[in-house]
Amino acid sequence: MCVSAEPVLTGDIAVVGAGAAGLYAALSAAAQGAAVVLVSATPLAQTASYWAQGGIAAALAVEDSFERHLADTQAAGRDAVRSSAAQVLVREAPERVRDLERFGVRFDADRHGVLALGLEGGHSLRRVVHAGGSATGRRIVRQLSALAADEPRITVMEDARAVSAWMRDGRCVGVALDDGRGVRARATVLATGGAAALWSRTTNPPGSLGIGMSLAHAAGADLADLEFLQFHPTAVVGVCGREGFLVTEAIRGEGATLHGPDGERFVDELAPRDEVARRITALLTQSGATAVGLDMRRVDPSLFPNVVSALQDAGLDPTREPIPVSPAAHYMMGGIVTDLHGRSTVPGLYAIGETACTGLHGANRLASNSLSECFVFGARAAHAGLDEPAPAAGEQSQTKPVAALARPARATQEALWRDAGIVRTREGLERLLDDPHPLARLIAACALYREESRGAHQRADCPATDVRLDHHHAVVGADERPRAVSWR
Ligand SMILES: Cc1cc2nc3c(=O)[nH]c(=O)nc-3n(C[C@H](O)[C@H](O)[C@H](O)COP(=O)(O)OP(=O)(O)OC[C@H]3O[C@@H](n4cnc5c(N)ncnc54)[C@H](O)[C@@H]3O)c2cc1C
Repeated sequence: MCVSAEPVLTGDIAVVGAGAAGLYAALSAAAQGAAVVLVSATPLAQTASYWAQGGIAAALAVEDSFERHLADTQAAGRDAVRSSAAQVLVREAPERVRDLERFGVRFDADRHGVLALGLEGGHSLRRVVHAGGSATGRRIVRQLSALAADEPRITVMEDARAVSAWMRDGRCVGVALDDGRGVRARATVLATGGAAALWSRTTNPPGSLGIGMSLAHAAGADLADLEFLQFHPTAVVGVCGREGFLVTEAIRGEGATLHGPDGERFVDELAPRDEVARRITALLTQSGATAVGLDMRRVDPSLFPNVVSALQDAGLDPTREPIPVSPAAHYMMGGIVTDLHGRSTVPGLYAIGETACTGLHGANRLASNSLSECFVFGARAAHAGLDEPAPAAGEQSQTKPVAALARPARATQEALWRDAGIVRTREGLERLLDDPHPLARLIAACALYREESRGAHQRADCPATDVRLDHHHAVVGADERPRAVSWR
C-alpha cells in the first residue's frame, strides 16, 4: 500500500459507474440533499444498461403478486436464492418502476395508459415492463443521464476510471482515479457492472470486466458466487460485425421458436435460461452444427424495432429467415457480497447492480430481474450510505491499483470460454487456476469448489445437484480460498 495524495473532490457519496444502478443511486442520493460525485469510465453507449432490451420485472399485473414473482425467482435460481434479498426485490420493484415514470421514463402502454407487460423465460405470467419495444435500457439510461447532468448536487466525472480504494482505519473513504485525481466520501458505491466480457463469446460491452470486483477484493471485500455466470441462449453467431448480438427473450415470449439443424423444435423456448442454453449446447455438440435457428417470422417486427433493424443492418432478415444463434456469456450472478442495503464487508464500501452479489439470483437469474435489482438496491444503498460517518481529513492508504487488469489477454478470454463455459470439468478448471488474470483464477476456484451441477454451473464430472448445497454460496475472502456460507 502507498500513501495517496489528497483527493481533489469531496462528496457525501461517491458513485463509480453510470449505468442503470449508478445513475439511479446518484439521483436517489441527490434527492435527499446529498452531494454526489459520479465517476464513469466510458460513454453511455458502452454500459450494459444501455444495451438492455427486454425490460424490468415487477409484479404490476392485476393477477400477479409478490409471492408469485418470488416463487418464479426462486425456481429459476435453482434453490440457491437468498430469499431475504429476493423478497426485497419483488416487494420494491413496482414502486421503483413508478419512480422511473416520475423521472420521466415513458414505458410502453396500451391506449388506455395501462403498462404493456412482456413475457420472458421462467416467468409464469406477463411481468416485464419495457420502453420503445426492445429499447428499454437505452430509453432509461438516456433519461437518467440527462437528469443527472442537470442536477446541481451531482458532479459528473466522465472518462475517469477508479483504480483503487482509499482506506483509513479499516474503512473505505473514497477512490483513486487513474489520472491521479480522487474522490473522498462517506460512502463509496461501486456500480461498475458485470464481468461477462471476460469470456471470449459474450453479449456484453467490452467494459464488463469485473473491475469493481477486483477493486473491492483488493480492498479486502468478500466476493461470492463467481461460478454462476449466466449464458444467454440466443446470441447471433457467425455474422461478421454482429457476433454475440443478443436477441431478446421477449421475442420468444411473443412466439419465436428455436429449431435444430433438422428444422425441428427441441426445447421449451420459455424455460429458464440455464435449461435452454444447455439444451442448445447439447444439440450443437451432438450435431456438429454451429448454430440453431431462431424463427421469429410470426412475430410482429414493429414490437422490436431496434432488434429487427440491427439484424437487417447485418444482412439478416428476421421476417424471412431464421436467425443463427447460440449461447454467449451474459450475466454475472456473483460479485461483491452485500447485505440488503448494498454494504460490502468493508465498512464504507458499497456495491449495487451487476457488480454486487446480493444472492437474489441464486444459480440462475430470472430474466429482467437485473434492472429491477439496479433500481431497488441502488435506492437502498443511496439511503444507507448517507448514514456513514464523514471521513476525517488526513492521510489515508491506497489499495493496490487494478488498472493493469483492465484488458484481459485474449488467451484469458478464450480460456474462460473453454474451461469455465457452459459445461465445465475439473481438469479444465484446474488449468484455469494458473491463468495470469486474478479474477479468472477466483472464478476457477469458486467453480472447482462447487462440486455439483446447479443452474448456470454445470460440471461434467459432477452432473447431479447436491441438495446439501441448497442455499449455499461460495465466498472468497482475501485469502482467495472459497468457503461455503448459507444465507437466507
Ligand atoms: C445485451 C444485453 C441485454 C440485456 N437485457 C436486459 C433486460 O432486458 N433486463 C434486465 O433486467 N437486464 C438485462 N441485461 C442485464 C442488465 O442490462 C445489466 O445487468 C445491468 O444493466 C447492469 O447495470 P449496472 O448499472 O450494474 O452496470 P452497467 O450498465 O454495465 O454500467 C457499468 C458502469 O460502470 C462504469 N465503470 C466500470 N468500471 C469502472 C471504473 N473502474 N471506474 C469508473 N467507471 C467504471 C462503466 O463505464 C459503466 O458506466 C442485459 C444485458 C445485456 C448485455
